[in-house]
Amino acid sequence: MPVPLRYPVLEPDLGPLEERYVTEAIRSGWVSSIGPFVERFEAQFAERCGVAHCIGVANGTVALHLALVARGIGPGDEVIVPDLTFAATAAAVVHAGATPVLVDAARDEWNLDVDLLERARSPRTKAIIPVHLYGCPVDVLRVREILGPDVFVLEDAAEAHGARVRGTTVGGIGDAACFSFYGNKLVTMGEGGCITTNDTAFAQRARFLKDHAMSPVRRYFHTDAGFNYRLTNLQAALGCAQLERLEETLERRATLLGWYREELSDTSITLNPSPPDTDPVCWVVAALLPPGTDGDERDRVASALRARGIDSRPFFVPMHALPPYAGCRLVTRDSGMSVAEELGGRGLGLPTSARLSRSDVAEICAALRAVV
Ligand SMILES: *Cc1c(COP(=O)(O)O)cnc(C)c1O
Repeated sequence: MPVPLRYPVLEPDLGPLEERYVTEAIRSGWVSSIGPFVERFEAQFAERCGVAHCIGVANGTVALHLALVARGIGPGDEVIVPDLTFAATAAAVVHAGATPVLVDAARDEWNLDVDLLERARSPRTKAIIPVHLYGCPVDVLRVREILGPDVFVLEDAAEAHGARVRGTTVGGIGDAACFSFYGNKLVTMGEGGCITTNDTAFAQRARFLKDHAMSPVRRYFHTDAGFNYRLTNLQAALGCAQLERLEETLERRATLLGWYREELSDTSITLNPSPPDTDPVCWVVAALLPPGTDGDERDRVASALRARGIDSRPFFVPMHALPPYAGCRLVTRDSGMSVAEELGGRGLGLPTSARLSRSDVAEICAALRAVV
């Protein structure tokens, strides 16, 4: 008999405001991709990121794909991505017809190691997708300085709504950024995503391609093979409510992370990084088990927690260890075990639900100490 899970890792936090807006959308009859909530969400999200344009799309993965295609990236081009990320980042590059180049993680930050970018670039480098992993922002301005103005900097901010680097909110630092509004993200629409940017020509191109690339003056005349990557009014209704509650969500998660830090302060388990000059957000409480822990040992810890009704998630498997990306060029500092491999094997996402109390966190941490 499986033990019932008392503590899931993440769950959507939906309340009366979400119910009200979704009901409003249903009653208005605008449930497809035209409707006031889509426009409202796009305007409010752009403002939050401090940019001129937000293009709502069906999910975060197609946001990445659309951004690359709208920028004209395709066969023969290289796109630098972190080795340690959710696979959608690298998959979007492959779907655009381009080649991912994998960069190892920085040990103290978990994000891609910016010091390796000189070595990762080549004459074919057209773009980079820095991922703000687990809510910890990459110093995108440093990335820009190193790679220069010709390389398209596309932030993958799917896990970092509201995080800041030197006071600037993610989503407004690179040439463009992609967000996800999947069920477990900091803002959810069930499924959903968007692109943010200040580049008007790029924004127009992305808007055009996401909606079948149909000529605005001649119906059913398509100048490109377009996509249907549209966001619905129903999704956006949920998103508008979630966006109004984002501050509350971020505060709640910061509080939770603070409790975990207190409970685990006398162990050799380390939690979410917080590099200087950044204001990370907590997407998930991410724990690195003691140095020397490998993937098998971490999985044993996860099963032992599960037997006590506590769910957890392993860190992402590094891209170079996955069949579609095994042949990609991988840039690391030296030839030993890569940092991404080590972090990938040691890391465990812990319960981060809004409804957890101080004593729930104490119980989860006691269990973790007991099984590590
Ligand atoms: C969730 C996520 C995505 C993909 O978003 P979907 O909305 O699930 O398609 C992309 N990149 C990262 C880093 C993510 O965490």
